[in-house]
Amino acid sequence: MAQETIFSKIIRREIPADIIYQDDLVTAFRDISPQAPTHILIIPNKLIPTINDVSASDEQALGHLFVVAAKIAKQEGIDESGYRLIMNCNKDAGQEVFHIHMHLLGGKQLGKLVS
Ligand code: C5P
Repeated sequence: MAQETIFSKIIRREIPADIIYQDDLVTAFRDISPQAPTHILIIPNKLIPTINDVSASDEQALGHLFVVAAKIAKQEGIDESGYRLIMNCNKDAGQEVFHIHMHLLGGKQLGKLVS
């Protein structure tokens, strides 16, 4: 059984977080330490520690992360200017919270990561 993280408590609203969207599959909230004017985390409600733990039964929830990301980007007014979606996996990528999450970053010119 995977170890719960603080994100499970956020999903269940047991600790405060600026939740901007929630449905049966995913929850989205503002990152507590924003790295851009818009920095939102979109997470599956199901605890999946890392991308390595994803299975075929998670496809609906994980695909839904993108649907919700696009909806939030529009709400935030950054859909046309642009934004970046990032998912870190394990140590070398700097993953700190072991409940997979999609970072949605935008509202400023972001440095190029890959050219
Ligand atoms: O991808 P990584 O695991 O490094 O990202 C974790 C993110 O979760 C960080 O950006 C951190 O600021 C955020 N966080 C949060 N609220 C918490 C704990 C962490 O927004 N209570």
